[in-house]
Amino acid sequence: MRTREFGSTGAKVSIVGQGTWNMPKHGAAEMRIGIDLGLTHIDTAEMYGKAEDYVGEAISGRREEVFLVSKVMPSNASYKKTLQACDTSLKRLKTDYLDVYLLHWWNGAHPIGETMRAMEDLVDAGKIRFIGVSNFDVRQLRQTEQVLTRNKIACNQVLYHLRSRGIEHSLLPYCESQNIALVGYSPFGQGNFPSAESKQGKALAGIGEKHRKTARQVALRFLTGRKGLFTIPKASDPDHICENAGGVGWRLDDEDLKLIDSVFPPPLKNEPLDMI
Ligand code: NAP
Repeated sequence: MRTREFGSTGAKVSIVGQGTWNMPKHGAAEMRIGIDLGLTHIDTAEMYGKAEDYVGEAISGRREEVFLVSKVMPSNASYKKTLQACDTSLKRLKTDYLDVYLLHWWNGAHPIGETMRAMEDLVDAGKIRFIGVSNFDVRQLRQTEQVLTRNKIACNQVLYHLRSRGIEHSLLPYCESQNIALVGYSPFGQGNFPSAESKQGKALAGIGEKHRKTARQVALRFLTGRKGLFTIPKASDPDHICENAGGVGWRLDDEDLKLIDSVFPPPLKNEPLDMI
């Protein structure tokens, strides 16, 4: 599995990772297959039901191999509750540190300065290595940068798949300019991937044929084409995990990119951030 630098952190992180929303109990065994294949960037959240417990099981004895990300819910993002939520996540994950801790989304329930003060104290306490956010637009990123006193934003995790390319207009350029990693979630549109019979599906399959790759591998390659991008598909079927591991380590050429743009048009104007 290919890795790249995760924003300004200096950490090398697998470009394709593993999501855990709706992860089934047996998912721990499958997740280990993914880790064996180098899909070591693992994304979870306090909000994902039992997922943190299952991840804890999957990474047992392998903590140092993975780059572990979890999230605090906005309703828990007061100073005190952020500290508590982190401790609870650590307990469920059976580890004593997270690589990155994200504010799951911005909802204004608690001032961002309060949440970030807790995040910075968690870094000082060694409970998290880096601070991140999720579903933030440029204005929210700027406000967060202003309140952080001794840390940078490591990443912004946002919706990014072929039918939802809105981030390419201004969020991606902004993150690139600030060296903030952009982690795209739901790369397969949450089960809404173009069918093989559709025009879009046929275009992806045609590109894949040329490179001996599948349509989904073409999608993952496209979604991680630029330097600061990462993607975290969720897969609980071992065949899917193996397929996803083949989504990097090769190149799409200009002709492929043109075809993708023609069937999945890029944004022409600044689009509001979609959220699932
Ligand atoms: P997704 O990764 O786009 O799609 C998951 C679905 O695709 C599952 O049904 C999975 O099936 C299937 N799949 C995966 N690989 C496949 C393959 N190679 N061939 C065929 N089917 C395949 O959707 P997602 O779970 O919404 O997004 C991924 C992760 O992003 C989440 O799990 C979560 O960690 C994160 N996320 C974050 C936010 C946020 O607000 N920050 C929001 C949504 C998601 P199987 O399970 O059967 O393999």
